[in-house]
Amino acid sequence: MQKALKYLFLFVFTCSILNAQKPKTPSSSEIYESIQKLNFLGSVLYVAAHPDDENTRLISYLSNHVKARTAYLSITRGDGGQNLIGPEIRELLGVIRTQELLEARRIDGGEQFFTRANDFGFSKHPDETLSIWNKDEVLSDVVLAIRKFKPDIIINRFDHRSPGSTHGHHTSSAMLSFEAFDLANNKTAFPNQLNQTSLWQPKRLFFNTSWWFYGSQENFDKADKSNMLTFDIGTYYPLKGLSNNEVAALARSKHLSQGFGSLTQRGSQEEYIEFLKGEPLVNNENIFAGIETSWNRVKGGKAIGNILTEVERNFNFTNPSEHIPQLIEAYKLLQNIEDEYWKTQKIKELKSVIEMCAGLYLEASAETHMAAPSETVNINIEAVNRSETPITLVSLTNTDGLNILKNISLNNNTKFSFKEAIKIKDDAQPTSPYWLNSKGTLGMYKVENKSLIGSPETPRILKFDFNLLIENYPITFTKNIIQRYSEPDKGELYSPFEIIPEASAKITEKVIILNSDKQHDITVLVKAGRDNLEGSVEVCHPKDWNVYPEKQKVSIAHKGEEQTLVFTLIPPKNQSEGYISPIVHIGDKDYTKELIEIDYEHVPNQIVLLPSESKVVRLDIEKQGENIAYIQGAGDTVPESLEQIGYHVRILKPEEINAETLSLFDAVVVGIRAYNTVDELKYKQQILFDFVANGGNMIVQYNTGRGLVADNLAPYDLNISRDRVTDEDAEVRFINPEHPILNYPNKITEKDFEGWTQERGLYYPNSWSNEFTPILSMNDKNETPKDGSLLVSKYGKGHYIYTGLSFFREFPAGVSGAYRLFTNMLSLGKDDLKEEAKLND
Ligand SMILES: [Zn+2]
Repeated sequence: MQKALKYLFLFVFTCSILNAQKPKTPSSSEIYESIQKLNFLGSVLYVAAHPDDENTRLISYLSNHVKARTAYLSITRGDGGQNLIGPEIRELLGVIRTQELLEARRIDGGEQFFTRANDFGFSKHPDETLSIWNKDEVLSDVVLAIRKFKPDIIINRFDHRSPGSTHGHHTSSAMLSFEAFDLANNKTAFPNQLNQTSLWQPKRLFFNTSWWFYGSQENFDKADKSNMLTFDIGTYYPLKGLSNNEVAALARSKHLSQGFGSLTQRGSQEEYIEFLKGEPLVNNENIFAGIETSWNRVKGGKAIGNILTEVERNFNFTNPSEHIPQLIEAYKLLQNIEDEYWKTQKIKELKSVIEMCAGLYLEASAETHMAAPSETVNINIEAVNRSETPITLVSLTNTDGLNILKNISLNNNTKFSFKEAIKIKDDAQPTSPYWLNSKGTLGMYKVENKSLIGSPETPRILKFDFNLLIENYPITFTKNIIQRYSEPDKGELYSPFEIIPEASAKITEKVIILNSDKQHDITVLVKAGRDNLEGSVEVCHPKDWNVYPEKQKVSIAHKGEEQTLVFTLIPPKNQSEGYISPIVHIGDKDYTKELIEIDYEHVPNQIVLLPSESKVVRLDIEKQGENIAYIQGAGDTVPESLEQIGYHVRILKPEEINAETLSLFDAVVVGIRAYNTVDELKYKQQILFDFVANGGNMIVQYNTGRGLVADNLAPYDLNISRDRVTDEDAEVRFINPEHPILNYPNKITEKDFEGWTQERGLYYPNSWSNEFTPILSMNDKNETPKDGSLLVSKYGKGHYIYTGLSFFREFPAGVSGAYRLFTNMLSLGKDDLKEEAKLND
């Protein structure tokens, strides 16, 4: 019996975004820089396709040197990239990369926006990209970003005129930006947006060119630059003690999941932007030429500008609070400005400057880092004024109707703190990334609440308004509830405060591959989001599969604890695949999601709720050989997958690679990008080749040609290229249909290449010595055949196999054909060896 899945109804939030990171404790020089920025009224939007595409040198220069409000619009969240620091791929990698971008912006001073487009993987041409993305929706999101952010200047990272020369997402980002530049000011374009924002015409559009787009430095040196502007992005900031390029490198180094940790750089460096359209530049010196960027830009701004320029000119570095009366004066005047855009933006900036000048510390810290609806949570409230400025804490309020009257005057450096218990609303919705709440398509996230489109993360719903009187003028500071805590080996830590469902569940195995109709035990972990959880669990399954018992009781005493329940899965007699999903019934509510925690030191902890499901595959598969050694590279879950189909897999550390240890194994499999990431492998190649010569099989998965640690990847010549086949449905032709690898022990047919995900493979060799036999041929549309995806060679008594096929993507997706082919690779020659052993006996 198949049961309908009832997904949690997910609500919509409409709040501003603040992050729950460690609060800034700015020094006088940082306050001074914020005041300089307060006096600049101009903005720049930088547009590219992925997290890590952005030129942090330019973003930092515009934000820190020019003082412009600067933002990066990344069309995607980078789900399709590779993860060099952990197992998360696809949407979970997108969550990590979103946070890496936010961290980068905290360093370079920019803001961050996105569209709903999903990074579905490598794409060779914008035609393909824009057919997989919903072009109209992405264009609408770019137009919306322009209408909301109202940039004077837009800078594209990529050239909109050269499709096919780089990733299709890259060119598409530039094409969309080029089109949106005019549409943003066209009232017939996406008119529904005009309910939440207004038309906007940016002044100029540029392309952030470089020698790369000209093929060589030499070509670029010769190029006509009359249409270009140049900046020295190596400028030094004494207030920071850093050069702009150092700031940029620190920001760029936040892209750790992409392996972008890098050295800082100093010294003069030229950066070029090419004028594309808008108001032409008369004398090529300033991108803002002809745009008023002082307070005179807004009606009523002159008086504010006079005050704030005075503050900037006479800034007191030893006692910034001296300026608070003037800042409050400017703040009052700002309330009467008609220009909503600059009023909102500058109120935000000025409030922050006042807060910093007073050395104000306002915090609402929960005693726990997550809670379920209806739960009561203790909050520690702290308020300290570290200045002589008269400040009164009038009250604390929140949107749930909480109103705590205090009327306490916050005297210089006297900490005021108290505890307050708050009850999470019964219908509070989980704080999971909003773009993952509903199932989207291959190319697009589905965002139900249109007001969230563009936002980097889910706005926090739990926050406190600190209503203060500063110099007798009311100012409200809103603080998200966070958790501040310490760990003996880490020191003080800050964590976002999350709302989680009262129950979540997952099946421990994400893909269950069964090679017979023998029943299989599955483990369901139910996690309590609150104390005293009582209910039941059942597992939904496809019609021809079965699960018993039908239902089991759940009883968990403490929040955060898990209960393990074992069900028995009965596969059908014949090959079949589908999904099984646990449902937890608590009272009259059903919970069908899995709660995933992402914990890395370089980004805030993340909680993600995803539909809980596991793929089940009943597979006809035969294999030879049992014991496999696995050498991890950049990280993949291939070992777990091989264990699922009955292999014994041991992860070998580089220092464990020696002849004696290897003799225990039938095959060695090398993980993705091992020769790009594991330095020690350069000393181990001969040992591995000797293992092959003695009858072992060695399978090497893809590496990139750049930055290889060893010259000899294989016992014979092999040249890794950038050839890839990105269409996961591309036709696969058998060059050598009689080869054992396609016939034994499993007969491989076209059917085995059905249902592949994301791509066929990447970084195929494009030349190889005669000892290699190419097995498969494939190509993307309008390209020449690529024959290097699977290369087999006999070496001594064993086999060396190099493959760029994306087994690391297909295994976790439960693609049966990928398992069958890999099993043949592992089994290659194993029968001959057995025969030989018999003869020798
Ligand atoms: Zn990119």
